[in-house]
Amino acid sequence: MTHADPILVVGGGVIGLTTAVVLAESGFPVVVKTAEPPEHSTSAVAGALWGPWMVDPRDRVLPWAKQTLDILTDLAEEASTGVRIASGIEVSTTYHEPPEWARLLSDRRACRPDELPPGYCYGTFYSAPLLDMPEYLSYLTTRLKRAGGRLDIARITSLRAADNAQVIVNCTGIGARELVPDPDLYPVRGYHVAVTNPGLTNFIEADTGDDSEFIAIYPHRDHVLLGGTAEKDVWERDPDPGIAHRILARCRSIDPRLADAQVIGHRVGLRPTRQDIQLEAEELPVGWIIHNYGHGGAGVSLSWGCARTVADIVSILID
Ligand SMILES: Cc1cc2nc3c(=O)[nH]c(=O)nc-3n(C[C@H](O)[C@H](O)[C@H](O)COP(=O)(O)OP(=O)(O)OC[C@H]3O[C@@H](n4cnc5c(N)ncnc54)[C@H](O)[C@@H]3O)c2cc1C
Repeated sequence: MTHADPILVVGGGVIGLTTAVVLAESGFPVVVKTAEPPEHSTSAVAGALWGPWMVDPRDRVLPWAKQTLDILTDLAEEASTGVRIASGIEVSTTYHEPPEWARLLSDRRACRPDELPPGYCYGTFYSAPLLDMPEYLSYLTTRLKRAGGRLDIARITSLRAADNAQVIVNCTGIGARELVPDPDLYPVRGYHVAVTNPGLTNFIEADTGDDSEFIAIYPHRDHVLLGGTAEKDVWERDPDPGIAHRILARCRSIDPRLADAQVIGHRVGLRPTRQDIQLEAEELPVGWIIHNYGHGGAGVSLSWGCARTVADIVSILID
């Protein structure tokens, strides 16, 4: 294997594009093949607030999350990346210990009583990168092309015979369930209703006592994404008026400024979920597959760290 052989990245969501950018900017020739364009991926549906909730293995997740936080914080300084540093609150009706990664957020503190919405007893205030995903994916695509990479719309039917590439990076999200195949990978459906922005700038995340339905308010420049749901093993991606109605009612009750906001779209995605994120190299009779999938509800928050791990593996394989 030489530096001149193109690396095939399969998947054009946030994991595939970020991996392709890191490889291309490290000097490797890169081709991305993706069944659907980035704007139709699950990644385009995300809120997307940095925070590696509920993903394992913990010893790898923390460094991946820290590297990604640092890079997204830098990108927030640049125009047209779709990233900004937003402040907001995460509130709850029951107390839970802060996750280990919370210490990475420098201004994190307990909410003052006057910051808690009615009915909520506990909460934290913090600032973190918030991404407008369609804009961010477009930024990544442009950056990939600038570094000499290519993006083709093409479905891969077998990783083991894909284009005779020597190194294939598998970033197919929930598609890996069939492609690998990996029966341990399952979808957790997430739903956002997009509404016009009545002037909100701060995010809100709140529990409801029901693990599958919660409150998420993510303000972007001209719209707000309202959520959310976490429905295990649900594959349906069509809009559901019942779910949308409940999301709107919950979000309007916690922030009445949303009362007259107009619905401008529905965004539904399948979080690719498994016990542990799969980031490992698999040797083939000729060449290698590097798997990079299964990031659940935290792919945006881990994307740069995981991409760098892939680049480290590639550098060892192509020496
Ligand atoms: C409602 C919702 C809110 C979320 N909020 C957050 C958040 O606030 N913060 C956060 O960090 N994460 C969040 N997430 C999770 C995040 O969106 C995912 O972890 C992330 O998008 C996974 O990225 P991916 O690139 O692995 O998968 P995807 O975005 O699904 O991309 C997979 C790509 O692979 C391609 N593909 C699949 N099969 C094939 C094939 N056979 N051949 C070629 N191409 C193929 C697809 O076309 C697609 O381009 C949220 C998710 C949802 C649904």
